Amino acid sequence: MSILLPFNSTIIRDLFIPLPPEQEPAQTPGFWVVLQGSFLVVPVGATQVLIPVGPLPKGIVPETAPLQIGLWQGKPLRAVRIDTDSTLPTEYEALPFQGPDTVLDNTLATIAGRAAQIMHWERRSLFCSHCGGGLVIIPGSWGKRCPSCGDEHFPHIHPCIIVLVRRGAELLLIRNAAWNTGRFSLVAGFLDFGESLEECVKREVREESGIEVANIRYLGSQCWPFPSQQMIGFMADYAAGDIKPDGVEVVEAGWFHEDALPASPGGKRSISRWIIDTFGKNTGECYSS
Ligand SMILES: [Zn+2]
Repeated sequence: MSILLPFNSTIIRDLFIPLPPEQEPAQTPGFWVVLQGSFLVVPVGATQVLIPVGPLPKGIVPETAPLQIGLWQGKPLRAVRIDTDSTLPTEYEALPFQGPDTVLDNTLATIAGRAAQIMHWERRSLFCSHCGGGLVIIPGSWGKRCPSCGDEHFPHIHPCIIVLVRRGAELLLIRNAAWNTGRFSLVAGFLDFGESLEECVKREVREESGIEVANIRYLGSQCWPFPSQQMIGFMADYAAGDIKPDGVEVVEAGWFHEDALPASPGGKRSISRWIIDTFGKNTGECYSS
């Protein structure tokens, strides 16, 4: 099973069928995902619909060629970017799909995130990182091949663990140097060379807080297209050690009683919030999938 969080495919499974790029039916009318930075362009007052079927509305000038990313309600769904400084026609507005302030529903946030992740890859896979040659698509995928040296390149998705550490009724929370005072969240970090996910959990908790953990259990995962992470959620138990933040990446860390948790920087769309809400008071069985 997949947890029902924004940006995971399950959110849009009844509406969207992903397709590789070369499947485009020529000139068939379809829907549009128009991105302006990390904002999705939608008709004013209508947060439930994409830009309607048909040509791009007058006044919306894409800076990228339309890229078909699949079918939306059976019709082609194409993504474009517009300049972040461009003025929209009065009947359209741009709403953020990232961050806690978004008013977009989960469906629109998810398809906007999917389009953003794919376009990010497309922009960064024009040339071969080995020889500098121009890349061509590998039929049937978003992968690319270099005709000059033969290297193949596939979408870069970065695994990142996030972990709820429990000590009795207390949870370990940390404050990243980039967050405002008083805001705390779970330990998280990127997988390193030579690590299993469980080893990554142990290292990140040790580095960020000085704590050793045991009994690591998998909880669930979330696509996080900002720009291209895979968040892999765990729970673990305190084993040993005293709190000692690294002072660089993490400036504060502490044990917080589950009934008196501080503010979190993540919105309700993040797996961080989901883990705390779902497992913050659950000392029993782990959630399996
Ligand atoms: Zn090459």
